Amino acid sequence: MRTGEELLLQVAEEVGIKLAEEQVKKLLIYKDLLKTWNKKFNLTAITDEQGVVIKHFIDSLLSIKAVDFPPRAKVVDVGTGAGFPGIPLKIWEPRLFLVLVDASKKRITFLQAVINQLELEEVKAVHARAEDLGQERGFREEFDTAVARAVAPLNVLAEYCLPLVRLNGVFLALKGPEGEIELKQAETALEELGGKVEKVERCILPRMREKRTLIVVRKVLKTPEKFPRRAGIPAKRPL
Ligand code: SAM
Repeated sequence: MRTGEELLLQVAEEVGIKLAEEQVKKLLIYKDLLKTWNKKFNLTAITDEQGVVIKHFIDSLLSIKAVDFPPRAKVVDVGTGAGFPGIPLKIWEPRLFLVLVDASKKRITFLQAVINQLELEEVKAVHARAEDLGQERGFREEFDTAVARAVAPLNVLAEYCLPLVRLNGVFLALKGPEGEIELKQAETALEELGGKVEKVERCILPRMREKRTLIVVRKVLKTPEKFPRRAGIPAKRPL
């Protein structure tokens, strides 16, 4: 058995996810790449075996408990960092069209290496600010689903993500215990951006006993053209 394999299989099963041999193989290669690159590039604070498997892989895969990711769905992961939750989702459903977005060049360079090594097809790693892409043709209102974890408070994150989502598509925010409070503070932002909360799922990350809040927002109206505002403004003056 390869390092981390048993833990990965066990914890996935605990959350009701059955991983195939090929998926396990790819996740373990990804884990090794993350550890190696992290020594030079400081991509993530979590690098221990259990942390990567549970806090990165399983936590990312919890997304599939809240939202469907059908084959050929167009998904954007905003502020993906070292690839979470986007890369585990792509390994879960290899037919997704995935765009990984991050403002950090070194993280995009790492992600390109992951894409090459894992031979992932239909994945683009884009070095950009979400606010800029949200006003760009080819990105604005192009995606069935936008996902994001650990990027910004919900009222700011909504301005990064909802402009990228097509009408009737969804925005999934992976949040910790603070999710409920952020949701209250984001009511105005969601309404202004054309979003409507569809469901909120609470769960516990196994073995870590950490609370998670998965917030699913449906885009019910087109986002007004003035959003997203210029890069930096959503964080400085949240809606
Ligand atoms: N989503 C990953 C995770 O859960 O491990 C990374 C989280 S990391 C704390 C936040 C990432 O969001 C950083 O890599 C940062 O560069 C990126 N980020 C923050 N604001 C952004 C923006 N406006 N546009 C694009 N990327 C952004």
